[in-house]
Amino acid sequence: MLLNNVASTPELEISLEFFPAKTDAGAARLPAMARRLASCNPAFFSVTYGAGGTTQTGTLDTIRSIAGATGWAGAAHLTAVAQSKATVDAVARDYLRAGVSRIVALRGDPQNGDAVYRPHPDGYANAAALVAGLRRIHDFDISVAAYPEVHPDSRDVAADLDNLRAKFDAGANRAITQFFFDADSYLRFRDAASAHGIWQPILPGILPIRDLDQLRRFAAGCGATIPDAVVQRIEAAGTDRKERQRVGIDLAAELCQRLVRHGVDGFHFYTLNQSDMVTAVCERLDLVRSGDRMVLAATGAAAR
Ligand SMILES: Cc1cc2nc3c(=O)[nH]c(=O)nc-3n(C[C@H](O)[C@H](O)[C@H](O)COP(=O)(O)OP(=O)(O)OC[C@H]3O[C@@H](n4cnc5c(N)ncnc54)[C@H](O)[C@@H]3O)c2cc1C
Repeated sequence: MLLNNVASTPELEISLEFFPAKTDAGAARLPAMARRLASCNPAFFSVTYGAGGTTQTGTLDTIRSIAGATGWAGAAHLTAVAQSKATVDAVARDYLRAGVSRIVALRGDPQNGDAVYRPHPDGYANAAALVAGLRRIHDFDISVAAYPEVHPDSRDVAADLDNLRAKFDAGANRAITQFFFDADSYLRFRDAASAHGIWQPILPGILPIRDLDQLRRFAAGCGATIPDAVVQRIEAAGTDRKERQRVGIDLAAELCQRLVRHGVDGFHFYTLNQSDMVTAVCERLDLVRSGDRMVLAATGAAAR
């Protein structure tokens, strides 16, 4: 399968995101589910964190479970909201003691029904402050969040980019974007970021659409747009769940292929703890293994 000119084809860095399972049965299914994603050969995987510490042990347990099954490097998400700096720092030290030195550092969303974000009186004011705090503890590999369609709390694109730059200035290694479905929104954002002096990697977050109603709920919460053309393609597949998911795979693969043609060299897949759609997208990207990296097979559509 490896081709002669693989060395000159683009390398792609894949990462995968999971969340702590809500039930024991769900947790028991995680190792096999992660193993089914082996063809994606991720550089790392990440596990979300319930804002305010609600899944603190779940995050570490999930990392142990998936890392134990696959040998992949795990990154733990950590939010600042509703917790003092001392509590957040203690969680970061717990991660380190458990051998986890990759952190996805986030502010988190307002808690307890608050419409507006209010930092804990002794807490980190935002994600940039959290990154600075983490840097004082250890030389973590730190990812932060970025928003191609602008974070709902942000005044405008410039303020959002100032905030992203503050996170990099504080020591973040890369950003991972909120999901989006229009390649242009990511490409415009990437251009605006570089015009803003941001040169660090901004990994596109890709969410293959499994269920349109669920997606509408996610998107309403984070301000992401679901383009009409995307809705129409899914609805045209009729009501059969599998057929709709096949279209979801097509849409995600087409999005990734378009981004690759514009020089994107990595993707962060939101797996929703399911292997089938992300595996299918990776296969459609025609990824082949080259040492410990994934590259695009020269014959693949994405390489053109
Ligand atoms: C890849 C990814 C992973 C995520 N994982 C999780 C998770 O595991 N758990 C979870 O609870 N949530 C998670 N989230 C959601 C995240 O917590 C929310 O989007 C949250 O609202 C913002 O977090 P942030 O780190 O981007 O915040 P920040 O970067 O701190 O800022 C958010 C917004 O507030 C504005 N802002 C920040 N500081 C200031 C300031 N001083 N003055 C004025 N405006 C300011 C910024 O412009 C920005 O628009 C994730 C999001 C992404 C994209």
